[in-house]
Amino acid sequence: PVAMEAAGEDCCVKVAVHIRPLIGDEKLQGCKDCVTVVPGKPQVQIGTHSFTFDNVYGSTGSPSSAMFEERIAPLVDGLFHGYNATVLAYGQTGSGKTYTMGTGFRDGCQSGIIPQVMNVLFSKIETLKHQTEFQLHVSFIEILKEEVRDLLDPSFLSKPEGANGHVKAASPGKPPIQIRESSNGVITLAGSTELSVSTLKEMAACLEQGSLSRATGSTNMNNQSSRSHAIFTITLEQMHKVNSACNGNSGLDGSMNEEYLCAKLHLVDLAGSERAKRTGSDGMRFKEGVHINKGLLALGNVISALGDEKKRKEGLHVPYRDSKLTRLLQDSLGGNSRTVMIACISPADINAEETLNTLKYANRAR
Ligand code: ADP
Ligand code: MG
Repeated sequence: PVAMEAAGEDCCVKVAVHIRPLIGDEKLQGCKDCVTVVPGKPQVQIGTHSFTFDNVYGSTGSPSSAMFEERIAPLVDGLFHGYNATVLAYGQTGSGKTYTMGTGFRDGCQSGIIPQVMNVLFSKIETLKHQTEFQLHVSFIEILKEEVRDLLDPSFLSKPEGANGHVKAASPGKPPIQIRESSNGVITLAGSTELSVSTLKEMAACLEQGSLSRATGSTNMNNQSSRSHAIFTITLEQMHKVNSACNGNSGLDGSMNEEYLCAKLHLVDLAGSERAKRTGSDGMRFKEGVHINKGLLALGNVISALGDEKKRKEGLHVPYRDSKLTRLLQDSLGGNSRTVMIACISPADINAEETLNTLKYANRAR
């Protein structure tokens, strides 16, 4: 039954749109809703443009609560069958990426995807633990200016951010974190904290700690705006006990064979997709903007290469190496892995231009 479930999914990248409601600030400014959902269809219209996705949630699309069941829970199931997966939240700053992923513990928002993943994961483990031994690891990093930073490094917590939003430096003397690829294609991070967790509470503490140490800086658009990609990774190892006596092995009555599976789930709160020029920033910010775009650009290219059946069959080169982000996600994007991109958008007319950009990007990924 395991293999059939996996074969059911035809394309390896699914794209869902999540439309948040108009928020207080937009209402105060008298913004109008400029995004329409075609009733009963996963289709979004803005101005004269129309796009079709795998799912549309929020506004008059499917309820947001359906998103987890339809798009994310199957990925958690897949982990137990050894399939890597990646969930990506894409969109301009303020579009709801952090709200959707649940990486904003600061706001006390705990209904996002990551907290729900944890709940499902631990209840599943509970039902299986009599026959399988589980090991869980968590890492939480961010990529800022093409540098990988460890959000679970305890020394970050003791050094609060400067009042003017200065980004904290890594612990002195600590070597930079490096992305490595083993001969069998498995990607690992050398030098970042990987915490072993055995309870829901422990895993939630990792999410909270990392969310708090995540670097933020102010721009004109949103003073909590994130210029970095934040990646929360759960690695599930399982040792399944198989009674080999059933296989007819003589002379080994009662002996156990063990089946080992390891899979990881990356939950990614991407950097804001708005252009650097729109944030009206100084030279330094602009440079960061350029780097952010490098990751998002590479991601767009990788995902569109993966989604293109014809090119894939011709053995097209997938440009994973073009950014740290795609390099890190390499073994969990494409191949046997499942990927869900959630394009987060604001319905407000003042954001129409960026919303259109987001829909175009997401459409290319499909
Ligand atoms: P981003 O991470 O993309 O910059 P946030 O997740 O911080 O955006 O969301 C911006 C604001 O909108 C926050 O105040 C957040 O609480 C609110 N918001 C986002 N998504 C929703 C939603 N689905 N329902 C209600 N409020 C939301
Ligand atoms: Mg955010």
